[in-house]
Amino acid sequence: MNILVTGGAGYVGSHVVKELLETEHQVITVDNLTKGHREAVLGGEFYQCDLGDYQELRKIFSQHQIEAVIHLAADSLVGESVTSPNKYYQNNLASGLNLLEVMLEHSVKKLVFSSTAAVYGEPKSVPIKETDPTEPTNPYGRSKLFFEKILADFDRAYNLKYISLRYFNAAGADNSGQIGEDHDPETHLIPLVLQTAQGRRQQLEIYGTDYKTRDGTCIRDYIHITDLARAHILAVEKLARRAESSIYNLGSGDGFSVREVIDTARKVTAHDIPAAPAERRPGDPPVLIASSKRIKEELGWQPQYDDLETIIATAWQWHKNNPTGYSS
Ligand code: UDP
Repeated sequence: MNILVTGGAGYVGSHVVKELLETEHQVITVDNLTKGHREAVLGGEFYQCDLGDYQELRKIFSQHQIEAVIHLAADSLVGESVTSPNKYYQNNLASGLNLLEVMLEHSVKKLVFSSTAAVYGEPKSVPIKETDPTEPTNPYGRSKLFFEKILADFDRAYNLKYISLRYFNAAGADNSGQIGEDHDPETHLIPLVLQTAQGRRQQLEIYGTDYKTRDGTCIRDYIHITDLARAHILAVEKLARRAESSIYNLGSGDGFSVREVIDTARKVTAHDIPAAPAERRPGDPPVLIASSKRIKEELGWQPQYDDLETIIATAWQWHKNNPTGYSS
């Protein structure tokens, strides 16, 4: 299939593109490069294009016989979404709609969508199931949930089939060491821990040590980026077999606390990693763990790098080789 990947120069996108390049599919990447890195896209066709640019998108669809889309382009910072909701609704919803419009014009009716565990908000129980209530607590989560609802309407009205993947905490880096996580600003725990190990930060702040968890710190479900990327390929191939639309949690099903992450990183890196308790970060639920039953049963997905040590070791390899990210 000719598969268009939007946001293919980002952290998730570059890993999805790399996995796709190892299949028989043809890859066409679009990314506006506001956050993404051109050198992270390891092959296929590349277009620097914003999804809001209707004419440019139409050209790309006309030049390539696109058969399916993996839609990852989005803004994804929770804090920023609270202060700039306009940006989030513009980029994650309005530009997404533009993409759907162009897809329909070209009769492309298969879409894999990158959604988020943030659609659940504060979970009532864990592990979180896809059928649990969705009550996002910030504009980022709402923009993703609204887009899922738009997709459901487009399925009913135009027979557009979609698979929405609700990511838990993507982490780690491709085994090859060629691509990895490079955000500016960096807000995610594992890269911040590793930057502290490198001495690029003096200490890690632990956001909250009085949660009702086994060691007082928040628990998250870390999923290796390669396992996460592979789920997209299973999803798009399932849609190619005329599957019905569906929604899947994409997490390993295991939870680790902030302290466990730091301790594992100390072991992997053999560095001290100073860490100090700090205030809770507003909006952080104590525990987020996916039930990954549905995706395992229906997509046949199985994580291959599900131990925390491997996840951190692959991230560490990337950080060591690229101490200042892609600019290194
Ligand atoms: N966290 C932390 N210190 C940091 C960054 C993150 O204690 O400098 C915690 C955060 O409160 C959360 C967990 O690490 O409980 C994972 O945060 P991250 O931002 O990586 O992902 P999120 O779960 O917010 O998507």
